Amino acid sequence: MEGLIVVDVQNDFCPGGALPVPDGDAVIEPINRLAEMIPFVVATRDWHPPDHHSFRDQGGPWPVHCVRETSGAQLHPKLHSSQIDAIVDAGREPEHEGYSGFEHTELERLLRDQGVDRVHVAGLALDYCVKETALDARRAGFEVVLHRGATRAINVEPGDDERALEDLRAAGVEVAD
Ligand SMILES: [Zn+2]
Repeated sequence: MEGLIVVDVQNDFCPGGALPVPDGDAVIEPINRLAEMIPFVVATRDWHPPDHHSFRDQGGPWPVHCVRETSGAQLHPKLHSSQIDAIVDAGREPEHEGYSGFEHTELERLLRDQGVDRVHVAGLALDYCVKETALDARRAGFEVVLHRGATRAINVEPGDDERALEDLRAAGVEVAD
């Protein structure tokens, strides 16, 4: 059974948002196509309290982004919501990073309940939440396929995208176009 995890395709991570991933909205069309072919689709959302420790005013690395219930935290409107079977919110606690959609969430149980054994991963951003979600899926024992063309990276340091792909391949993740 195949499942698709759509990672954090939210307004704040797309152009015009609070923490835009370069070219971030380019992932939407390929994700909509993947979602047509894969029977179970889960979308994750970065879903922070206003005082999340990853924010700069709390000493973290990022501008304020994806504060729960705000418009910036909503899934991008061009994502085909009718194809999404479940939504999982991560990063809900002030002290937890929440880069991975599996961290302190029901994501693994949702996938197991559907009998998923092969997980496809796409979304934003390749070098943070997509990478950590795919690595956690491997640690949980799923077969994992990362769809490179349906991700974009932040690249705080040049080459972060290529290093992320190396880490993923080393962990046994299949990297597809
Ligand atoms: Zn975040």
